[in-house]
Amino acid sequence: MIPPLPHISRTAIGPILLASLLILLVWLRGPSAHSHVAPTSAIQVLAASEHVVTPGAGTSTPAPLSGDYTPGGTLDIVSADGLFPAGEQDALTTEIWQALTYASQRFGSGPTGRITVNLGMELGCDIHGIAYTTERTVQVYTCPDLPRTRAVNILAHEFVHQLAQDRYGDRHLHADMILLEGVATWGAGDYWLSGQPSFAAFVRPWAVAGSTLPLATSYVGRPVGDMNTLYYEWGSFVEFLINVYGRDRFDVLYITGHSDPGSADYQGVYGKSLDQLEAEWKNWVITQ
Ligand SMILES: [Zn+2]
Repeated sequence: MIPPLPHISRTAIGPILLASLLILLVWLRGPSAHSHVAPTSAIQVLAASEHVVTPGAGTSTPAPLSGDYTPGGTLDIVSADGLFPAGEQDALTTEIWQALTYASQRFGSGPTGRITVNLGMELGCDIHGIAYTTERTVQVYTCPDLPRTRAVNILAHEFVHQLAQDRYGDRHLHADMILLEGVATWGAGDYWLSGQPSFAAFVRPWAVAGSTLPLATSYVGRPVGDMNTLYYEWGSFVEFLINVYGRDRFDVLYITGHSDPGSADYQGVYGKSLDQLEAEWKNWVITQ
């Protein structure tokens, strides 16, 4: 069953906060936790200076943070004291709701329950996000020196992880990394595209130059630049699968994985190996 899109009224927005942008991810404390570490530089999507969190390393808990609390609607938004000026909190709340609405519309289904959004203080300004989808909690850690838009950009990606859990159930927790991160990146759309019209357009220069990384590449142990490259490639690959082969088959594919990149049953669903589909994808990207 695909849940209907939520009716999100912008007038139903209460007070609260946030701040800024990009990527990376790691299993941190269990299969429902996806972490994203963003670069300290905004806008430049591929500019790095991210730090990589070692898989399995300790991280913050999804426990509510102290600070403002705004119940109501589908989102409960909590921000750390002093993270955002009081004058920005209404705008920030609106932007978070807009991000959820956008992601739900683009992804094709909305949340099945309330989502808690925690905005935490990262004094080192090492902005990063994480989704605890079984606990319906998404978090972004940032600092007052970073623009709030960067946190919203990350939240758009984290929201899609929650929407995937709500759409696919617990099978989402074992999804092929290519599809798990790819769909969250693709679903975040404009929040990650830096003005490009599509992910195909975003990765086209790499495809033309022959500099893409193999899709079935784990980000673990890779340089940050490679990790960012993989996220955008995966987002583009998801875009390709949905546009060319349709959403229904993508939904079937999504629940066949076993976490590792390339572990979904591409052959069974499309009658083609991942290698074949990857070759098709590169050609599609270049000829779009
Ligand atoms: Zn993610």
